[in-house]
Amino acid sequence: MAKFGTVFCEEFVRVEYRDGAWQQPLMQPIGPIPMHPAAHVFHYASTCFEGFKAYRRADGAAQIFRLRDHVARMQKSAASLRLPVPLAAMLSQMVIDLVSRQASKIPEPPGSLYLRPTLIGTEKNIGAAAAPSTEALLYVIASPVGDYFAGGAKALKLLVDDQRARTTEQLGSTKTGGNYAAALGPTLDAKAAYGVDQVLFCPHGDVQETGAANFLLLSDKEVITKPLDSSFLHGITRDSILRLAAELGYRVSERNITVSELLELVATHEAVLSGTAATLSPVGCLVHNGREIRVRDGNPGPNAEKLRAALQAIQTGRAPDTHGWLTAV
Ligand SMILES: *Cc1c(COP(=O)(O)O)cnc(C)c1O
Repeated sequence: MAKFGTVFCEEFVRVEYRDGAWQQPLMQPIGPIPMHPAAHVFHYASTCFEGFKAYRRADGAAQIFRLRDHVARMQKSAASLRLPVPLAAMLSQMVIDLVSRQASKIPEPPGSLYLRPTLIGTEKNIGAAAAPSTEALLYVIASPVGDYFAGGAKALKLLVDDQRARTTEQLGSTKTGGNYAAALGPTLDAKAAYGVDQVLFCPHGDVQETGAANFLLLSDKEVITKPLDSSFLHGITRDSILRLAAELGYRVSERNITVSELLELVATHEAVLSGTAATLSPVGCLVHNGREIRVRDGNPGPNAEKLRAALQAIQTGRAPDTHGWLTAV
C-alpha cells in the first residue's frame, strides 16, 4: 500500500458558503480547486480540518467511526477561527454520500478509508487580516489507507521539550493548519539533533502532546492522561480509549503530569501516542536534557496492544457497538 495520505478516491464532495448561506453540495471528480491568489486562507490561515475513518465490515457494508463527534469538533474549530460553521446535517450527509459512492474502495481491515473534511476561507481580500472571511469552501476528500503497523509496531523515540508549546493557548484545541506549521520547525530540529521521531511538548514542565497525537501512560491498572483544557487537541481516539479502559476495569486518571513525574512513571508505565491514523503507537524512549530514558524495557507493551485491539474490534464490527459510535452507510 502507498504511503499514508498519498492516494485519493476519484471523487470528492464540496460546498461553498456565500451570501450568508451554505449552497448546494456537489460531488465532483477530484482535481484542482481554482482559487483567487488573494483568498483569505493563503494570507491569514483561515483553515481547519478533520480526520477520521470508514471501515469495511465482513458483510461488505461500510461504517464510519464517530462521525457525529468529528463533525462537532469541526464545528468547534470553524467557530474558533470565525469561519462559517458547517451545518452538522449537511457535513454528515456529504461524508455519508462520499463513503457510500466509494464503498468498494475501502480496503479490508486493518485498512480503512481515511476521510478529510477541510474548510478554508476564500474571500478575495488581502485587507482582511483582522476580519473573518465572508466566503468559504468546505470539501471532503477520501484516501484508502493500509495497516499503519504493517511491518510491526516500532516503538517511537520522543524528545521531551519542557520549554516550548506546540502552539498557542487560543488555538490549542483547534484542528488548524497553522498549529502543524508551528510544530514543524521544533520537530525537524529535534529529529536532526537527537534522532527522535516526535517532540512531546511540555511547556513549563506540563506534559501536553506531540505535533499531531495525544499522549497517554498505561499500566495494568490505570490510564493516565492530561484532562481536557484549551492547550491541546481533544482527540477522539483518546476519548474512545478512556471509555474502553474504564469498561475493562482500568482506573482512568485524567490529571496533569509534570516532566519530572513523567520521567519516573515510565520506569513502570507504558507510554503511547493516540490518534486516528495509528490508534495507539507505543513509545520506547524519551530524550530529556540530552539523556535517554527508556520506557520500561523499551519495547511495545501489552496494555497498549489490549486497548488497541478492543478499539479496533468495535471499529471493524467484530465487537458490538454498545456506545453508538458507528454510522452505517
Ligand atoms: C488530530 C489530532 C489528534 C488526535 O485526534 P483524534 O481525534 O484521536 O484523531 C491529537 N493531537 C493533535 C494535535 C491532532 O491534530
